[in-house]
Amino acid sequence: MRNYQLEMESYLEQLRSRDGVPTLLLHSCCAPCSSYVLDYLAKFFRIMVDYYNPNIFPQAEYERRAGEQVRLVGEMNARAKRNTVGAGDVDAKYERRAGEQVRLVGEMNLNEVSVRVADYGPGAFLDLVNQNQELEIAPEGGARCAVCFRLRLEHAARAAKEGGYGCFTTTLTVSPHKNAPLINEIGEEVAREYGVTFLPCDFKKKDGYKRSLELSKEYGLYRQVYCGCEYSMRERSGDKA
Ligand code: SF4
Repeated sequence: MRNYQLEMESYLEQLRSRDGVPTLLLHSCCAPCSSYVLDYLAKFFRIMVDYYNPNIFPQAEYERRAGEQVRLVGEMNARAKRNTVGAGDVDAKYERRAGEQVRLVGEMNLNEVSVRVADYGPGAFLDLVNQNQELEIAPEGGARCAVCFRLRLEHAARAAKEGGYGCFTTTLTVSPHKNAPLINEIGEEVAREYGVTFLPCDFKKKDGYKRSLELSKEYGLYRQVYCGCEYSMRERSGDKA
């Protein structure tokens, strides 16, 4: 069985021998999951967060989650600027957190993160799901989710190609409820289709999920109570009708 975390670490290790700061297009499902991924990967990449989630229902929920994503990126950038010491001084490349000892974060400073948010457009998701009643009634974690992952990863692969990013990946594997092997399989498929590199990931490893909870608390992030689509909202509330 593949260990996607180790595969990612191996890729990150290879970056150390390259000149310049590599670029990553990061599909983000929500601010809480992205908090850990940004904290981890902004040391290695210049990141563009791609907030594209047409699965989310209703629009007010979409706007709320998107707003939290933008706020998080802004606050992380501001904190990184305040806390990163002495670019060019290897001994001074530290990250400082309130209430924590100074922590060495590696040979690279934290890089500034950018974010872009797609307009609300549930049609792309509904057009796929409404074609097949089995997808509408599938439980969370079933066939509908595979379609949902592919829609968002395909968008990320296309955006990575168009923007000339070195690689792309997704925050979706932070959640212990999501199928990491399936997400990686789809990521690799769409990467081949678009001729870009998918960064393998299983972000829940190494306490990634736990760290996302801590960071969410630290930044006061809104944590949604259902995955995103109308079906998951009903499932969560017990209204299967
Ligand atoms: S449950 Fe979540 S992953 Fe599955 S289709 Fe709905 S929004 Fe997408």
